[in-house]
This record gives sequence, C-alpha cells and structure tokens, in this order.
Amino acid sequence: MNCDGAGTAAAWLRVAGVVREHCDELVRLDRAIGDGDHGENLRRGFDAVVDRVTSAEGDTPRAVLRQVAATLISTVGGAAGPLYGTALLRAGNAIGDRPDLDATAVAAALEAALEGVVARGRAEPGDKTMVDALRPAVLAAAAAAERGATIAEVLAEASAAADAGAQATVPLVARKGRASYLGERSAGHLDPGARSTALILASLAGSAAS
Ligand code: ADP
Ligand code: MG
Ligand code: MG
Repeated sequence: MNCDGAGTAAAWLRVAGVVREHCDELVRLDRAIGDGDHGENLRRGFDAVVDRVTSAEGDTPRAVLRQVAATLISTVGGAAGPLYGTALLRAGNAIGDRPDLDATAVAAALEAALEGVVARGRAEPGDKTMVDALRPAVLAAAAAAERGATIAEVLAEASAAADAGAQATVPLVARKGRASYLGERSAGHLDPGARSTALILASLAGSAAS
C-alpha cells in the first residue's frame, strides 16, 4: 500500500464501497435494537466521502483524514456520525504532519480514535457499542506495532480483534445509545456500530495488504 495522502484517500474510498455492500446488513442490525438507520446513515456519509474527498499532490494522511472526518460529521448524523468524525479527527492529529504512515503511526492513530470515541460518547467496555470493537483493535495494533509488525500486519490484527470484539457484543445488554432503551431485550443481537467498526477495519486491512 501507498502510505501517503493518496494511499490514505484510496483506502477510505474503498471503505465507502464496503459500507455500500453492507448497508442492508447494518440496517437489519440497527432495526433489531435501534431505529434501523445505521446502514443508511453510513452509506450517505461515505457516498459524500466519494464525492468530496480528493488528495492533491503532497497532501498528508492527516489532511485526508480531516476531510473524511468533516464529511462524516456533516452527513452521517445519528450517534455514529459525530463518533466516527471525532475518531478520525483525533486519528489525524495523532499522525501529525508526517508525509507517510508507518506501523507505529497507525497504532497511535487507532488509539487516538478510541480516545475520541470515548471522550465523545462516554461508553465503557461492555456497554455494547463500537467501543467493544475498537478497543480490542487498539490493543492488538499496539502489541503488533511493538513487535515491529508492518502496517498490513498491524491492521490485520486490529481487524481480527475488532471482529471478535463485535461478535462478543451479542450477549451484552446495551448501556449506551438507543439500544439501551431496550434494556435486557437488547441482549442476543450484534451491535450495529461494533459491526461497522469491524467492517471499516477489515477494509483498511485489505487496502494495506494490497
Ligand atoms: P442512532 O442510534 O442515533 O440512530 P446510528 O444508528 O447511526 O445512530 O448508530 C448506532 C451505533 O452507535 C450503536 O450501534 C453504537 O455502536 C454506537 N453508539 C451509540 N451511542 C454510543 C456511545 N455513547 N458511545 C459509543 N458508541 C455509541
Ligand atoms: Mg440508528
Ligand atoms: Mg437514528
């Protein structure tokens, strides 16, 4: 993968395709324990990413992430828009103005993304939210970067951990967001935001591997 601004933009355009492919699935998940709009919310946001995000020669990864974040904040809406937007703004800030990403920067960006989601939404691990996918991803990424893994390896491990974390939301009772209104009845369903986080990380890992 090209690790500069152009590579970062290409990776997020690929995420847009994955969100489109999984829109109906995310709608179904959100219909079970929320208001059924998570897939449409994200699709609207990532369609806007496809329209608006461009990378000019010399753009840094941070500049691209800021564009993606601003686009998602202004178009996704719901709980997830500001959460993903904040995550990406913080991720960009953690990367700083370096022209190219490396494994350590990617792990730091993921950690900052989690901090952003927690600062904004105040969810704790086990509350059945996107934090339950993102937090294990951050831990796996940090461990991989520490051992000297490549970006592709860091993202592959983060993606696998996010997927396991998302699946592990099934038995949980939601304590944040709309699903929490259902109380015990939220148990037995996969959290839509945890699923979308796992899908996004899988897409980024796929870009990094190619
Ligand atoms: P809305 O609930 O406003 O319709 P979405 O359907 O787009 O928004 O997003 C719902 C997802 O947002 C949930 O599945 C959950 O993962 C995530 N979420 C909701 N509230 C929080 C929070 N406080 N912290 C972290 N994630 C949250
Ligand atoms: Mg919803
Ligand atoms: Mg909604």
